[in-house]
Amino acid sequence: MTSYHYQKHQLQMEQVSIKSIATQVQTPFYCYSQTAICNAYNSYVEQLTSMDTLICFAVKANSNQAILKTMADLGAGADVVSEGEMRRAIMAEIPASKIVYSGVAKTQSEMEYALSQNILQFNIESENELLLLSKVASSVNKVVKIAFRINPDVDAKTHAKISTGKSENKFGIPISKALAIYQLAAKLPGIQVQGVDVHIGSQLTQLEPFENCFILIKQLVEQLREDGHTISIVDVGGGLGIDYAEDDSEVPTIESYCALLKQQFSDLGCKLILEPGRSLVGNSGILVSKVIYLKEGEERTFVIIDAAMNDLLRPSMYDAFHNILPITETEEQACYDVVGPICETSDTFARTRIMSVINEGDLIAIDSAGAYGAVMSSTYNTRLQVPEVLVKDNQFSIIRERTDYEQLINQDQLTAWQ
Ligand SMILES: *Cc1c(COP(=O)(O)O)cnc(C)c1O
Repeated sequence: MTSYHYQKHQLQMEQVSIKSIATQVQTPFYCYSQTAICNAYNSYVEQLTSMDTLICFAVKANSNQAILKTMADLGAGADVVSEGEMRRAIMAEIPASKIVYSGVAKTQSEMEYALSQNILQFNIESENELLLLSKVASSVNKVVKIAFRINPDVDAKTHAKISTGKSENKFGIPISKALAIYQLAAKLPGIQVQGVDVHIGSQLTQLEPFENCFILIKQLVEQLREDGHTISIVDVGGGLGIDYAEDDSEVPTIESYCALLKQQFSDLGCKLILEPGRSLVGNSGILVSKVIYLKEGEERTFVIIDAAMNDLLRPSMYDAFHNILPITETEEQACYDVVGPICETSDTFARTRIMSVINEGDLIAIDSAGAYGAVMSSTYNTRLQVPEVLVKDNQFSIIRERTDYEQLINQDQLTAWQ
């Protein structure tokens, strides 16, 4: 499902050569394929036609307006985790009636904003959050539709920093306390219980944790119904992993994940909400960078590129593997450490990587950077935030410009006493 290919040894995104973009946009920049995003979305849709389903793109994976508009045009909803993300989704014309609001700590003012928009569902993560929402909703004479995010105590078998479904994690209501909190919610003013929600982690590379989780959720829905609750929605969260390596490490496909959903939920009589993020956009994007220096260390050869950990945090934050591709394909290979210019050893994209021989001035692409890339970027080291480019067929468009130094520095202000 990779979005690029080589044509006459030149890396292309759809029908646009990366080199031609780089003549107009300075590196580093993100580049996404709109067709790849649509294809991933449509794989979900095609597999789930037999069920009443809403796919709510997890906005935090890539929140650029052009990406969200792509989702809106496909008919997607949005899963948001802040007021800011909700505003982004609504600005990009994703209808509020397709927005679910997740997150462990919604504040009162965020709740008020969400209430004013009449969103599809609040996913509530604690009793205190429930009580506050009840108060806020009652005060404006509204009834809000909610689901509880259940923590099923299932091991997602993913990186510890993105595992969210174990009892030691901060997320959700422990499944052992689920029946009690649904009973409490049923008595509260301003609250209408409609669903059960779960999300056990991100970059899951096996189906088994999903299956263990879904079995528990299904049982819970049945118990809740016996207790007299009307449960019409099951929100299964996101988390399906993507392939970051070239060695096809057997990440489950969207098709096999959907087959599991159908197997578990088709006879439950619920509308299904999915919140995929990474699996919709991750493989659609690359980060294009230029080699500044080759540096011979005592034991290693360092390729120092103009992209850094502030542009793509995943390798330093999650020890993530990303393929690194030459823009001009060569046969010859060598072993490199690919690093950025920031003064931290964690500013490293690849260690002892065997890859195409590269030279100073060459362009390279860091693969599978469409999710949790640009959104996690910062201006650390007072580096300008990276621009983003969207490609479709033979066209490309800058969907986020690089800021300039003046804009960046002028965000600061001197105090009155200086
Ligand atoms: C992050 C997140 C998602 C998306 O996860 P992916 O791994 O990108 O699919 C979905 N739901 C919730 C609640 C999240 O926090």
